[in-house]
Amino acid sequence: MFAEVIVDIAHTAVDKRFTYRVPEALPVSVGHHVLVPFGQGDRPKEGFVVALKDSADYPSLKEIVRVIEPYPVLLKEQIALAEWMRDVYHCLFVDALRLMIPAQLRGGRIREKRVRTVRLSEGLDLDAALETLKNAPVQTQVLKLVAKIGAPASVPDLCAFYPNCAPSVNALLKRGYLVEQSETVFRRPGALSIHTPVYALTDAQKQAADAIETAMRASSGEVFLLHGVTGSGKTEVYLKAIEDCLALGGQAIVLVPEISLTPQTVGRFTDRFGDRIAVLHSRLSPGERFDEWRRIRLGLADIVIGARSAVFAPAERLRLIIIDEEHESSYQSESQPRYLAGEVAAKRLREARGTLVLGSATPSLLSYSRALSGKYRLLELKERVAGRPLPEVEVVNMRDELLMGNNSIFSDRLVERLSDCLGRNQQAMLFINRRGYATFVSCRSCGFVLKCDNCDISMTYHKTESRTRCHYCGAIKPLPKVCPNCKKTFIKQFGIGTEQVEEAVRRLFPTVKTLRMDTDTMREKGSYEKLLSAFHRGDAQVLIGTQMIAKGHDFPNVTLVGVVAADTTLNLPDYRAPERTFQLLTQVAGRAGRDSLKGSVVLQTYEPNHPVIRFAKAQDYPAFYHYEINERKKLLYPPFSLFLRAVFSDRDEQTAEKTCLAYAKGLEAVLKEQLGEDGKNDLLLLVAAQAPIARISGYSRFQIVIKLLRTRRLPAAVKTVNAFFDAHRGDCAEVLLEINPQELY
Ligand code: ADP
Ligand code: ZN
Repeated sequence: MFAEVIVDIAHTAVDKRFTYRVPEALPVSVGHHVLVPFGQGDRPKEGFVVALKDSADYPSLKEIVRVIEPYPVLLKEQIALAEWMRDVYHCLFVDALRLMIPAQLRGGRIREKRVRTVRLSEGLDLDAALETLKNAPVQTQVLKLVAKIGAPASVPDLCAFYPNCAPSVNALLKRGYLVEQSETVFRRPGALSIHTPVYALTDAQKQAADAIETAMRASSGEVFLLHGVTGSGKTEVYLKAIEDCLALGGQAIVLVPEISLTPQTVGRFTDRFGDRIAVLHSRLSPGERFDEWRRIRLGLADIVIGARSAVFAPAERLRLIIIDEEHESSYQSESQPRYLAGEVAAKRLREARGTLVLGSATPSLLSYSRALSGKYRLLELKERVAGRPLPEVEVVNMRDELLMGNNSIFSDRLVERLSDCLGRNQQAMLFINRRGYATFVSCRSCGFVLKCDNCDISMTYHKTESRTRCHYCGAIKPLPKVCPNCKKTFIKQFGIGTEQVEEAVRRLFPTVKTLRMDTDTMREKGSYEKLLSAFHRGDAQVLIGTQMIAKGHDFPNVTLVGVVAADTTLNLPDYRAPERTFQLLTQVAGRAGRDSLKGSVVLQTYEPNHPVIRFAKAQDYPAFYHYEINERKKLLYPPFSLFLRAVFSDRDEQTAEKTCLAYAKGLEAVLKEQLGEDGKNDLLLLVAAQAPIARISGYSRFQIVIKLLRTRRLPAAVKTVNAFFDAHRGDCAEVLLEINPQELY
């Protein structure tokens, strides 16, 4: 027998199947993690068996040395998926395979954890035994304890009761009073189970859950878009769908954005499903991650809840994948392989004929257009549960405030609402999309703006540190007392950040406790959970934060949400700015009044008549969709087209520029040839220019932006671009090609 092996080395030159002979006695199957002799001196290297065959073209082959884990670490289906990813995302086969297993499995950096346990030996006469231990008090205590536990007791646990009792345990083993066994334990992330009642579903919830159940039962391979306003009870529909999935003998994967994988979310699932859940996210220890993965692989867990990469979980009986907050950009991987979790999920389920459920209060334009065209099935939850109203949204024009002489960061209306809310002993959330104290430092006399030395970016003032910081590279500069340019003293910080909002609240309400949540306060492991549960407990009345506070949290006592500056994200030079702003505003507004208390929202803006602000005020997603899809159509923006971007960076500006221009010329030629006469209008844009952020961390940046019309010719055109980048090695330090880039600057 022969095995085709992908060697675990990420390099284009070796990213292919190598054939090895399987030794007679070695039980090798597809998916096994193996050691094979490779390269100079035939040193053993790790690899993955991706196929077995009876004959080989070159019979004098090297042999597989051994299998590493006793079970195949990859499912056949995962191998096929990785192969598909290699073609679609233009990545290495091995890079795609690596996504399917815990990183520490490779290189044997992690093992199963076994603990020594002891129990009473069969048929032991306890009293007689204790009689013989009169002069051995510790042994007596240990034996009594083991008898009391009545089940295998781990030695570390016994030592927690009686420190240093291991020698006594050994003595008891020697006497034959105890017998030893060793057990595998699964390291599990501490999941608090948050008790949530099982509700009788509302009619709308029931309709949605029924449709999903029918699809699962029929293995119809359908995709659902569950569009439910904030607080409409989407999670309850998920829980019911999972229950139905398990009843059909299937396994389910639930993806949530990394940031909402809080103890609250996990707790709600744990309360319902207990140990049948496995959790996968970036804050697990390597041991926990390995063990959770193994519980899924070995079929001990039926439900996986995790962030983006959990879409690769080794569930053999997969019948359902749920993607919550499907519009979130965190479902797009930002490093190679640059996959989209939704696409991977759809592919897996097409093969398994399972059901995909995409849920959101603000679906991506692409998903919603697919739902309207019938490609997906639209399920709607138009109202909040239990007749709770959506919060009332007031829009405050900050220009008027200024005219009336209020130049503070809070409008009179927001202050009034805030003091009402606090007076009623309820909680408020204030949202501002910038961390730090002030967004830039500038001279009012000469217009000088303090910039980072490494990046073409203005420095952000952090008052708590009394210095300025670059949010791109982390560089630090003191706050200058005089303008470095004109030497006058009119240099000052401008713009609002989270720190300043917090300071303003404390000035207005000196006795009120506040919490601030942004990447500055969230550096430490576990700080996110700590802060959220503190707010949940009511340790503070006001939570101030960036988009981190906008996502999925359910705080029953929050009745006021204030958006300090609704337009900060609206005017970014990106075609997605309106969509992102609408999503963000709807999500933040949705945090108010989720329980029985009525909620209100104050939205401060300088552009109260902007359509996005108007639709956000009405919380009318369909209206926003029709407006925005029309705008996109006019300008042929996605989903009517696809953007590609290549960034060329180098310490030497000219090198970056020259390489960029040369690539642009070559690309234009091959693309035109590929698209041919029929497709000559498909290439909507191909510009090479300095990147909007001209320098980051000392590297000059130039970029090519390509915009291609979405036609049947598109996949071939993308292949051509990929092939061009494969065939060329530029002279500059880094060339990065992104398809559907998340940022254009
Ligand atoms: P969404 O995810 O759509 O924003 P959630 O699923 O978090 O909404 O539900 C909002 C609140 O309503 C939660 O506190 C939840 O426990 C409650 N809830 C959900 N379904 C029901 C129901 N059928 N009856 C009563 N309360 C419900
Ligand atoms: Zn910098």
